[in-house]
Amino acid sequence: MGDGRDRRGRTAARAERSAEDPYDAALVEADRAARRWLAGVEERPVPPRASPEEVRDALGAELPELGEPAEAVIERLATAIEPGLIAIGSPRFYGWVIGGTQPAALAADWLVSAWDQNTGLRAITPGAVAAEELAGEWILDLLGLPAGSAVGFATGATMSQFAAMAAGRDEVLRRAGWEVATAGLAGGPRVRFIVGAERHGTVDLAGRYLGLGAPVAVAADAEGRIDVDALGTELAAGDGPALVVLQAGNIHSGAFDDFAHAIEVAHRAGAWVHVDGAFGLWAAASPRFASLTAGLAQADSWSTDAHKTLNVPYDCGIAVVRDQPAMLRALSMHASYLQATETGADPHEKVAELSRRARGVPTWAVLRSLGRAGVRELVERLADAARAIAEGLAALPGVEVLNDVVFTQVCIALEDDASTAELSDRLWRGGEVLAMTSRWRDRAVVRFSVSNWRTDAAQAARTVAVVERTLAELRAGR
Ligand SMILES: *Cc1c(COP(=O)(O)O)cnc(C)c1O
Repeated sequence: MGDGRDRRGRTAARAERSAEDPYDAALVEADRAARRWLAGVEERPVPPRASPEEVRDALGAELPELGEPAEAVIERLATAIEPGLIAIGSPRFYGWVIGGTQPAALAADWLVSAWDQNTGLRAITPGAVAAEELAGEWILDLLGLPAGSAVGFATGATMSQFAAMAAGRDEVLRRAGWEVATAGLAGGPRVRFIVGAERHGTVDLAGRYLGLGAPVAVAADAEGRIDVDALGTELAAGDGPALVVLQAGNIHSGAFDDFAHAIEVAHRAGAWVHVDGAFGLWAAASPRFASLTAGLAQADSWSTDAHKTLNVPYDCGIAVVRDQPAMLRALSMHASYLQATETGADPHEKVAELSRRARGVPTWAVLRSLGRAGVRELVERLADAARAIAEGLAALPGVEVLNDVVFTQVCIALEDDASTAELSDRLWRGGEVLAMTSRWRDRAVVRFSVSNWRTDAAQAARTVAVVERTLAELRAGR
């Protein structure tokens, strides 16, 4: 914090600046803190060092009677919160399916906050809407999805699923002669909501939000892919409106459903097909994964995250619906005080929010900064690192790689659940590599989910070396 003179000098300089510009001193402080964090994120221990209670104390639990200058607030915030931060941006963070943030995306996100555009209406915030529309069109192009599909920017994959599945629910009911928008759900035909046994839990959640109830789960194979014959059998066992949710990227195995066949079977039964591709949809940006994504574009809707594989800051998910009018029927509202566009859909009509930040702008920035080749390289780099980690770990004594490593996920187990849990605890305490525990195939597993743009071959090798050392310590009982 420097000596008294420094501090007085800094305070005087700040006071001078803030007299001219009320934002300047706070932004300088935030910039300094952000750079400090980012410069250290690669080498600092990955797990947080402080509990929420410790951070509460450091922040000061009492609401002050009198306020303090913005720059002092920011300095306090950055100092107090830092021990309680987890280094998700570390190239050796393998938790969930998330990673860091790309420079262009982070910088654009700062601007989004500075501009503070409520991005609902084309006519009112044309700048932000233009960047988001371009991002949406580029994503359709990159992922081989039908041009002209509606693209909505929601908070994450959960709410993107919600938006897309809302379109699907209403459309299959409409085809059965039932208008949800006016009649509601009660008394109407029941929508058959069908998923694979290993769908992500948020698919059920979106179904709950939509009043669909619990899904019928059909069998999945050893890698978690939906059994297409079982899907066909389930569909044939009943009739009426149906919504089928498939998966691009299983969080344990990284596996992709057999889209070509599953979608054909579902469409033959008149079902709407949604694909949850929260992290895996990006595989479609590389021809290397063409066999995994074949047939994907035949679905009716898709959801993904930009805050996972693409590494933009939270919160950004993307909902894509082929039939734009179906999406608007489900999600749009009209009011005399809203200046609706006459030249296309407004952004608020494609998500379950009216007011929101311009969260698609960082996605535009990252796509612009990577280009088509860069997105493809990013996805391939993540998969290469996953393969290297899997190969390195498989060579260690007693380590079993459980999944077929087709994309970015690696699931390992030791000889028994207790040892697997112990390995994961030791990795957490060591702090150099963060991989999370889960249960899969009725076993405790440690999951390495490669989702950070900075995880390259060198980081993969370092990760294997850390696990090797940790395992040796575990075996030696040290
Ligand atoms: C992360 C994830 C989700 C949920 O995404 P959020 O952005 O956390 O809402 C859904 N499906 C899959 C496969 C995921 O990995």
